[in-house]
Amino acid sequence: MKSIAERMTISQLIVYVSKFMFENDLTDIAGGNISARDGDVLYMTPTLAGNQWHWIIDTGDIVEGSVAKIDDLKQHPRFTREGLSHLAIYKAFPFVGAVIHAHPKYINPFVAQSKPIPPMLSASKSFGELQYHAEAEQYSQDQADKIVDMLRSQEDRMKKKAAAVLMPRHGIIVASANLMTALDCVQRMNTNAFTVLAQKWLE
Ligand SMILES: [Zn+2]
Repeated sequence: MKSIAERMTISQLIVYVSKFMFENDLTDIAGGNISARDGDVLYMTPTLAGNQWHWIIDTGDIVEGSVAKIDDLKQHPRFTREGLSHLAIYKAFPFVGAVIHAHPKYINPFVAQSKPIPPMLSASKSFGELQYHAEAEQYSQDQADKIVDMLRSQEDRMKKKAAAVLMPRHGIIVASANLMTALDCVQRMNTNAFTVLAQKWLE
């Protein structure tokens, strides 16, 4: 039996993951973006996918371009404002095949106060404690570089499964070898964040 990823093209899979994330509170109308790489070709959700389309996008909306010609991709009219960090990650780590930036419902309370998120469940242990990149202007190249800095010490995690960086007062960015594993990571981290918050109810 073929997995979901095996039954779809990369663009179709990005459309599927977009819908899944929005319907499961893994991101919101305000933002997020999903990208995947196949060899030299990069596929990325368009700008304002949440705000303008409530994440109901189709394969024709996906921004597509060559990794070798990254500057051309930046000039694309639908290039996402949060795309610089995706491009910096692909450039720095050739084995990365997917990047997800999201505003997950239960991670938001932590990023509002820049509090690290400890792993509380065995399902989230492999990601370690989630930490923040240093302060930087949102959507800037400086921010993209600081995200890459935080991922450098997590190469093993990215190769084995996925690694995440928290963005102060903003959200999370996850890098992995493939898109389904990146989505798995976002879901697990959101569930783990809820579990940390819910400990208060047990006191
Ligand atoms: Zn965002």
